[in-house]
Amino acid sequence: MEEKSEEEIESALGLEPDAESSRSLFTQTTDFLNKYLHDLPSEKAYHNSSSAVEKINALSIPSKGRQFQELLNLLAETLPKSGINAAHPGHMGYVPGGGVITTALGDAIASITNEYAGLSFASPAGVAIENQMIDWMKKLMGYPSDAVGHLSSGGSIATLTALISARHWRKVTPENVRKQVIYGTRQIHHCVHKAITIAGLHFAEFREIQMDDQFKMDASDLRQKLSADAANGLQPFIILASAGSTDVGVMDPFASIADCAREHQCWFHVDAAFGGFFMLADSRRSLFQGIERSDSLVMDPHKGLFLAYGSGAVLIKDKSAVLDAMYHRASYMQDAAVHSRVPDPADLSPELTKHFRGLRMWLSLQYFGTDAFAAALEEKLTLTQYFYRSVQKLGYDVGPYPELSACIFRKKTADTLQLQNVENQHVLARIQHDGQVYLSSTTIDGVFWLRICILVFRTHQKHVDQLLTSLEV
Ligand SMILES: *Cc1c(COP(=O)(O)O)cnc(C)c1O
Repeated sequence: MEEKSEEEIESALGLEPDAESSRSLFTQTTDFLNKYLHDLPSEKAYHNSSSAVEKINALSIPSKGRQFQELLNLLAETLPKSGINAAHPGHMGYVPGGGVITTALGDAIASITNEYAGLSFASPAGVAIENQMIDWMKKLMGYPSDAVGHLSSGGSIATLTALISARHWRKVTPENVRKQVIYGTRQIHHCVHKAITIAGLHFAEFREIQMDDQFKMDASDLRQKLSADAANGLQPFIILASAGSTDVGVMDPFASIADCAREHQCWFHVDAAFGGFFMLADSRRSLFQGIERSDSLVMDPHKGLFLAYGSGAVLIKDKSAVLDAMYHRASYMQDAAVHSRVPDPADLSPELTKHFRGLRMWLSLQYFGTDAFAAALEEKLTLTQYFYRSVQKLGYDVGPYPELSACIFRKKTADTLQLQNVENQHVLARIQHDGQVYLSSTTIDGVFWLRICILVFRTHQKHVDQLLTSLEV
């Protein structure tokens, strides 16, 4: 073997800080995080600034490492000073996320141990933790114990896994794909259309289903279109429903849709990325009736379970459809195959090597208990209803009654729709410029709506009151 210079050896050992250096790195990080949390309430929810990007770009990747504190200082100057502060109680735009502290602690443990959570032989305990999370969600949503599931990076990949499984269940081929029909309303999230495209199902017909005045799927229109398609020699294939539609957060009529799906032998998929965990809230459980009859279900722990970004989940009843698409073996995996239990997480999703993301969820549920999450969700529901009542008193028009924690609202004082749209765009610009609260907007049938979604666990009454005050003018 060639002689290595001492310098080279020392440089390589640099990746293994000794116990004292490790402790110092942890301490500096903890101090950084504690200060971040301490300063957060006085920070803005939104900064429209580009100076942070310039600062990041100015620090090139060095050949010799930099001081850790210097890096933390840069992060402190940039991350909370640009864009949306997603951890901030004033973030009420889109579908906000969470970041309960146990996510970070779980991730730290997952990263230091670097457990290989894709295969049970490599990490029996890690896979058991992931499976416990899947089983818990199956039970929560009323799925049978022989359903399978997977923890993904988010709702988009979870949706892709579900739709690809549907494709294999139907045995879609290039010859029959154009006869397949997919049904959904205009409230379907764009990640579902993306998944349809990636799965090659954009060659199938997409049939838009009417909505009622609450923006819920009109089951009688669905029934009619299914029958018409069947009569015309087409094959009804997938029905897409939402538990918490993207714009207004309402629930589709799952029981009627499930009846239609059974009648026409369709795959019934529910996008519960926003709404799924509201099943934990006693006050909302009845809205989910019939969801347990779906064939696949997507939910996002990084939304309704308040975990940090990077946690989605999919539940699928037909295990063989999933395995048909995702189960592959290769000669270089033969040692794993001898020991592994099928299905392993790697057999149920596009991922092989993956983040041990079950741990952050497991640690959160085990440490806080489900009651804490249920109580936080109930609080967000109460706040949203409070906002819905209060904003009307300020003279705003509102959309459907908020079944979950989102609602749309708009000023209607100007004479024409066009002027009203401009008026509301100005309100939004003012709120975003102020930055204390972050709101987003949507346009439905040419009408511009302001939209609030309360799902940061740190958002409480005083933050909603602050928003109401700034909407007063
Ligand atoms: C967030 C969301 C998605 C997409 O999930 P990601 O986790 O962002 O990939 C899909 N559907 C709905 C209703 C959502 O709110």
